[in-house]
This record gives sequence, C-alpha cells and structure tokens, in this order.
Amino acid sequence: MHEDEIRERYERERQKRLRDDGLAQYVDLTGQFEDFDIDPWVEPGFTRDAITKDVTVVIVGGGFAGMLAAVELTRRGICDFHIIEKGGDFGGTWYWNRYPGCMCDVESYTYMPLLEETGYMPTEKYASAPEIFEHCQRIGNHFDLYPHALFQTDIDDATWDDKSQRWTVTTSRGDSLTSRFFVTAGGILHKAKLPGIPGIQDYAGRTFHTARWDYDFTGGAPREPMDKLDDKRVGIIGTGATAIQVVPQLGRAAKDVYVFQRTPSAVGVRNNGPTDEAWYRTLEPGWQDERMRNFTQAVTGEKPLQDLVGDGWTEVLWEATNQTTTSPEHRAELEQSDMETMAALRKRVDEEIDDPETAEKLKPWYGKHCKRVCFHDDYLPAFNRPNVHLVDTDGAGVREIGSRGPIVDGVEYPVDLLIFASGFEVTTPLAQRLGFDPAGRGGVRLSERWQDGAHTLHGIFTAEFPNMLVMSTVQAGFGTNFVHFLSQSAIHVASVIRTCLDEDIATIEATPEAEEEWLATLYEVAIGLAHYSATCIPGYYNSEGATSGKGARNLVYPGSLLHYAGYLERWRDAGDMPGARVVRA
Ligand code: NDP
Repeated sequence: MHEDEIRERYERERQKRLRDDGLAQYVDLTGQFEDFDIDPWVEPGFTRDAITKDVTVVIVGGGFAGMLAAVELTRRGICDFHIIEKGGDFGGTWYWNRYPGCMCDVESYTYMPLLEETGYMPTEKYASAPEIFEHCQRIGNHFDLYPHALFQTDIDDATWDDKSQRWTVTTSRGDSLTSRFFVTAGGILHKAKLPGIPGIQDYAGRTFHTARWDYDFTGGAPREPMDKLDDKRVGIIGTGATAIQVVPQLGRAAKDVYVFQRTPSAVGVRNNGPTDEAWYRTLEPGWQDERMRNFTQAVTGEKPLQDLVGDGWTEVLWEATNQTTTSPEHRAELEQSDMETMAALRKRVDEEIDDPETAEKLKPWYGKHCKRVCFHDDYLPAFNRPNVHLVDTDGAGVREIGSRGPIVDGVEYPVDLLIFASGFEVTTPLAQRLGFDPAGRGGVRLSERWQDGAHTLHGIFTAEFPNMLVMSTVQAGFGTNFVHFLSQSAIHVASVIRTCLDEDIATIEATPEAEEEWLATLYEVAIGLAHYSATCIPGYYNSEGATSGKGARNLVYPGSLLHYAGYLERWRDAGDMPGARVVRA
C-alpha cells in the first residue's frame, strides 16, 4: 500500500473514533456501580481494632509504588511508617488482576523489582500474574513490611493541620493516624473503569470487570482452567492488553465467545520460555538496574550499544518515530520506519488468521506510538476457533446493551456472562482515582486546588499540600516498564523525606511558580510530539483525545522516562530544593 493511502486510512480510522465526551464516556465505579468494585479475594466479615498513632510517614497503597517507597524508606533508616491498603494483601495490580491468562508482557527480569535483593529467579521470561503476586509477598516478607500494613482499609479522609504540621488520616476501620509525611501511592492502573453504555445496568446476566474476576461463576482458578463455562455464552467488551490475555482462555473454556471490538490492538510475538538458570547465575551484582535502564533506553529510541532484553518490545520501539525533527527527510524516514513496523504487525494477522474477512478486522491502522502494543502468541489464533466470534464495531464501540447482551448494528448478542475488559482510569483527577480528596492548608481540597487539572512540581509536590508526596503518572514519568518509573519515584520520595528529617525541614511543598514552570516543560516536550500525536486515535495515552481542560494539564511526562528521572536526580543534586517552598523547624 502506498504511504498516502496508509496516511488516509489512519486518518479515517481516527475520525471514526473521535467523540465529544472524551474521558466522560466512562463511568466512575463509585455510587451506582459499586458492585463492580467488591473485593473477590477476601472473606467477608474481617474486623480489627482501630489504631490511633503518630508515625513519620503514612503511605497510601500497597502495590509496587507503596512497597518500593517503603523499601526505600527502610533503606534510609526510616522504619516508622504505615501502609494503608484497600486490598487484603500487598500487590496492587497483581493483587486485583487474577483473570485467567494474566501475565506481564514486560520481561520478568526487568519488571519484577528487587530480584537481586530477594535472591529470586523468575521461572519464565514473561512471568504469570500468580508468580508476580507471590513476589510481592516475598518483598513484603523480605523487607519486613507486613507489620506496617493495614489491609482491607480505605481512607476516609486525610487533612493537613498547619499548627501541628501533621497529616491526620482517618480510615474505614476507625483508625486515626497522624504523620509528618503523607505519600500517596494509590496506583497507576488500579481504578477500573466501565464504558457508560446506555442499558449497562439493564443487563440481567452475570457481569464483572476483568480486575474482579468471579471464579465462582466461571470455575477454575488463576492456575487452573475454567470448568463452568462449557455451556455458557460469554461476551467480552474491549480488546486491549487485558483482553488479549483473556480471550484465548475463554475460547478454550466457553461454549461461545463474542469479542466486542472498537479498536484492534497491534499484537506482536511474545515467545515466552523458561529462564535459563545457568545464564541467570552468571549475572553480576547490579545487573537488574542496568537491565531496567537498558530496556528503557531501547524502548525510547535511545539505542543502547547492546539490546540486553532483545524482545518484541525493543524491536518495535527501537526507533522513536514520534520524535521531533526539523529535517523533512528525517521525518519521512521516521514515518516510513513506523509504517513498516505496523505493516509487519498487520502481516502477522494475515499469517495467523484463517478467515480473510476476520483478519482484515483485526488489523491495527494507526502509528506504533499511538496505543500500547501487545505481545501474545495465542490471541490471534483464538479467532480460528469456531466458538470465538469477533464482533467488530468499526470504531464505534458498543453503544447499547439490552437485558440479554450487547446490541451492535441492531443485533442483540445474548450472553450469559458479560466481561468488561475496559481498562482503568489513567488521567482522570487524582482525587477521583485515590478515592478520597486530601485537604491541604486551610482545608482546601485537592479537587478544588486542581479544579483546572493538576498543579505539581515533577508530579510529586503540590503547593498548599505540605509534606504530601504523590506517586502517580500525572505530570510525572511513564514508560513501558512501570516498575522502572516507580523505582525512580520511590527513590526520590524517600530521599526527600530523609533530607527533611536530617535538615530539620518541617514542611516542603511546591511553589506555584515552579508548578507552572514544570507544566511549561511538560508542554514543551509534548509539543515536540504534537505532530505525531495529532495523527493518533483517542485512547488513554492522550486522555481520549483531550486537548484542553483538565485532561490537558493531567498529562504524563511525554518524553523518555530516563529524561524524567534526570530531572529528579538533578533536583536532588542541586541541594537547595529549587522550586520547593521549605520551612525549617
Ligand atoms: P485498555 O484501556 O487498554 O483497553 C480497554 C479496551 O476497552 C479498549 O480496547 C477499548 O477500545 C475498549 N472499549 C472501551 N469502550 C468500549 C466500548 N464502548 N465498546 C467496545 N470496546 C470498548 O485496558 P486494558 O485493561 O486492556 O489495559 C490497560 C493497561 O493495563 C494496559 O495498557 C497496560 O498498561 C496494562 N496491562 C499490562 C499488561 C502486561 O502484560 N504488562 C497486561 C494487561 C494490562 P479503544 O481501544 O477503542 O479505546
């Protein structure tokens, strides 16, 4: 196909998906959709005594962000902290997501943190979710984090008191904790979202989100095949990284599977295999940091001398084709390279899918940086099974649900089970995702101060919220390997707290001027990518296409994670905390 035709096709696909409601197309699970948010992994009836205590740090969230922050604090001799976690154990994403086939398509040796410290060798190149969840527990035990954890506990409120220079955190278990520092590590992809499809509440069959899998209904377990679906028709809405992993499992277990597709994912080769123990034992101390860094370089176009991971990710993202360039020739080269990568991914569809009509519908028509690429070896072949049916909505998405199932083009698809693989909130307001709205100086709520979107320095400090340190992607780093980002963020947060304790700094927060400067930096980097982004279909990478309003301020640092980490490092090295308002005791 000629380049012009490809460009036109990209634009046609983008136009089909543009919609006025942007992020508002999804509904917040709080309120009328709370049933979708019940924890399936704990026994009901848990109680414990309420705690009233003063500690140095309260951390919200026991996923990798909160755990890594706790580990970094411990390493710096700060052991006086509590971790408040909604789930019944550590793990975050890996606690909640136990859907069949769940795994991580980022290499385990770079993704699973603290392998050297815990002495653990992942069993495979791409680890399964149960193995990663067990690793979270291993970290909890190794670093003695369990005594600090308050599980099955929601935050009711968190308020700053200027007089005592303390945060007060109250919880659903009646706790009242006061602390000098308050770290919100509430998760990147933890708040499930549902498409606000008319009729969604009229559906009479069983329904759940992939992050709250109901094995009582489907049978099986994360490591066992589902055995209660052989007479069931199952619908699944969404075809992102989660659905890619679920569909093959459903195909094996259910009588019929209907996959409702709005936008096809680009699906590359995964090629999993057992860890070569002999190789693993040759790795020298410090190897994991180096490998994480090397992987991030490779997937951000920084082309390290050697590609240590050498997988689909590094192959697809080796060239940053969305980069700024003033040379028209270079731009043309980048565009061609991008088109070649996507053409190869489309060719794979033809190779894997028997029916040419189905193959056409499964082909991704957008640039490689527009949407998260996926890697899986069983997803595409699942559509060759007679019981797996692709219901392509040609970019429109499911717009109506009846009492028996989704309705597309006037046809109702009756299903016994309707699964939402519809993803998570990423760039919605932080308070909405945290599930509470912290009150800073003078009782002003975060949602009020951030009425027009986020205001931060590095995504970490915010003015009028002294000693609150945010670990989130909003105005902060992002990357293929989230754990690499979180490790950098945790180091920063723990170092700041250590410095404040050492230097008798009573309070630290951003200045409003520094926040605007940081926003300008974010925009500057984003503008460099604007030419490319303008060609992209909507998705969570671009706040569903938002160019103004809150979505525009709630952007992630759009450049390389290593550049973002560089800002943090330079800030720490500067010694005088530039852009922070610091009050000494
Ligand atoms: P996504 O947000 O990636 O996907 C949601 C899906 O729902 C999209 O396909 C979306 O279509 C679709 N959708 C939304 N509304 C409708 C509608 N009305 N009708 C039909 N389809 C609809 O969520 P995931 O849970 O798949 O993944 C989220 C993130 O979690 C990933 O990007 C990744 O970062 C992480 N993840 C990582 C994994 C790993 O292996 N490392 C595995 C799984 C998840 P559209 O594309 O058109 O918006």
